[in-house]
Amino acid sequence: MSDLSRLTGVGPKRVKILGEAGISTLRDLVYHLPRRYLDRTRFTPIAELKVGEDAIFVATVASIHVVQTRMMVEVSDATGSVELVFFNGVQFMRGRFKEGMRLSVAGVPSHFRELQMVHPEWEALAEGKEPVGEVLPRYPLTMAMSEAHVAHKFLQQISLEALGGFSFTDPVADIHRGALELLPEAELLRGLHKPAAVAGIPALRRQLKVRELLPLSLKLEAVKRERRRVGKAWPQALALRETLRGALPFTLTAGQSEAVAGISACQAATGQFCGLLMGDVGSGKTVVAMLAAANVIGNGGQAALMAPTEILAAQHFATLTPFLAKAGIRAALLTGDTSKAERDALTADLRAGTLPFVVGTHALYSGDVVFKQLGLAIVDEQHRFGVQQREALAKKGGHPDILYMSATPIPRTLAQTVFGDLETFALRDKPAGRLPVKTRLVGGEKRTDMLGFLVKEALGGNQVFWVVPQIGPSVPSAAKAEADPDIFVPAGRREEDIATVDKVRKELEAFSKEWKVGVVHGKLPAEKKEAALSAFRRGELQALVATTVIEVGVDVPQANLMVIESPDRFGVAQLHQLRGRTGRGTAQAWCFLSLPGKEMPPETYERLAAFSETTDGFAIAELDLKARGAGSLEGTEQSGYGGLRFTDLLEDFALTQEMRKYAEGLADLGTGAPSSSPPTSS
Ligand code: ADP
Ligand code: MG
Repeated sequence: MSDLSRLTGVGPKRVKILGEAGISTLRDLVYHLPRRYLDRTRFTPIAELKVGEDAIFVATVASIHVVQTRMMVEVSDATGSVELVFFNGVQFMRGRFKEGMRLSVAGVPSHFRELQMVHPEWEALAEGKEPVGEVLPRYPLTMAMSEAHVAHKFLQQISLEALGGFSFTDPVADIHRGALELLPEAELLRGLHKPAAVAGIPALRRQLKVRELLPLSLKLEAVKRERRRVGKAWPQALALRETLRGALPFTLTAGQSEAVAGISACQAATGQFCGLLMGDVGSGKTVVAMLAAANVIGNGGQAALMAPTEILAAQHFATLTPFLAKAGIRAALLTGDTSKAERDALTADLRAGTLPFVVGTHALYSGDVVFKQLGLAIVDEQHRFGVQQREALAKKGGHPDILYMSATPIPRTLAQTVFGDLETFALRDKPAGRLPVKTRLVGGEKRTDMLGFLVKEALGGNQVFWVVPQIGPSVPSAAKAEADPDIFVPAGRREEDIATVDKVRKELEAFSKEWKVGVVHGKLPAEKKEAALSAFRRGELQALVATTVIEVGVDVPQANLMVIESPDRFGVAQLHQLRGRTGRGTAQAWCFLSLPGKEMPPETYERLAAFSETTDGFAIAELDLKARGAGSLEGTEQSGYGGLRFTDLLEDFALTQEMRKYAEGLADLGTGAPSSSPPTSS
């Protein structure tokens, strides 16, 4: 695409400023669209002006007063009057107003004793001349842009120049434009930079979204068709499932049984199955996954379970092995800590197909891990894994079925948008006999009380998880993870985190000599981590101070107390995951959100208060969606939907569905759907 310096008024300095704002090409420029508009087409009678609402009106100058450096111009129309106030250059301005003069005035009225407008835009109207209104675009601006006078008018002007003077190739093929009744790209963009009337803007915006959704919808449909084509049908291994079920020390909840039945039916159908199993922490997803694995193993295939951390992998392995062993199924654990010799032996067995079940971390993605026939890949806490890693895994053994497990529910409809034909299963019931966790917000003045309560409880056998936030991001951004599928940074690898962990440990030890306090953070070597966790699990430590390495899945049923320091630093979904560590035993569980000393924004306080009042994961997912918007929904980044600039997955849900239908219809017709790239790529 040709460069910006060809535009009138754009020299090297402005090229640089635009570049810093992410505008480097003409295409970037024409897609830098107004965020809102000021309607200056409709003239408002003065009596109807409202404080804070931009308006334009026609009026006559009634009087002019200058007080030191301030000038007040009283203007009126048939309905009323308003005062225009100017502070600077009064001497010069003074001569420009005359009593009886007609003006068009635009701006935002404010209130100071009476209605006034400070530094409005204005224009003298010649005798008999009526003002022409227009819709003014308001673009997102950076500080540098506005300082260099690259403001609204200028952006509009150069955008129109770019659209008029250079020819763009419309990324949307004619056949789609015709079918979807879309304006040519340049015409659409011209309309958005300079709308004739505000009433037309929503329809234009909709077209922008359609253009953005089209390539994604076509891609999703292609993926869906491909899934139907590849993959193997795994008939239900009822006998093996029965044996495994019999090996469990509990009976399945109704939700678990239903999920097993539903997932098994999907596995038995032809094509590659892709499912999402949602349920609160502790709702028993792992057992469901194990029973799904049995369908594959019972038919001679292999299954793999990936966990996001070594602690979790080890824990899943420890939980599942006894059950699997009773059913005669061999299982192995493969993580970064597995010795070379052991790893070689394991990978040889996986390749030969003699090892039917493997539990592991991202180590399972490495090249030397090859399966004879991987039939099911179970991905625990799906948001911790990038799509590339999943795909790498999927390639390891033909086209295995994939089952994601997540404690962050996604509304079914949205899940389909985001992941294509993802089947969702929800565990809404909890294993019997569990009391809901009681959650309290604790301010600094109550800290001593809280500590006293916790020491007493802890000495009575109820253990405490003490969570401190990580400082700074330690998980790579999705973009970085996409670029390099090998990037995977387990949580909590920063020096500051250790400092915080140690500070709290010292505080706890100083508070009471009676309890034993341990620490776990990402910088600890795996043996020490495991040692601390084991000691905690065995009840030798009463309190465990930890960064969010414990966030996902750590299962210590007798730890029913939790303190979360600086809960404002966590999203509600993450708080919910953390809190889910407790409430697994039979004693009353408590979760204390230890508020930071500083003032919190009211939204944050409300969010924490709302969180403290519910333990329903599905309600919390909604809170989370509200707070963050669907764009940041787990999984959206990986799906490609995360890059949507103009579409909001929640608000524009109906449109996303329409586009999916459109793509489906095309595929049904067998039309070689012309490929189309997103409008913003140049
Ligand atoms: P999730 O993965 O959903 O967080 P897990 O699968 O790790 O939960 O299960 C949490 C704990 O509950 C485990 O100790 C598991 O053995 C136990 N559990 C699972 N299902 C049941 C059930 N139906 N009844 C009682 N305990 C169960
Ligand atoms: Mg789990």
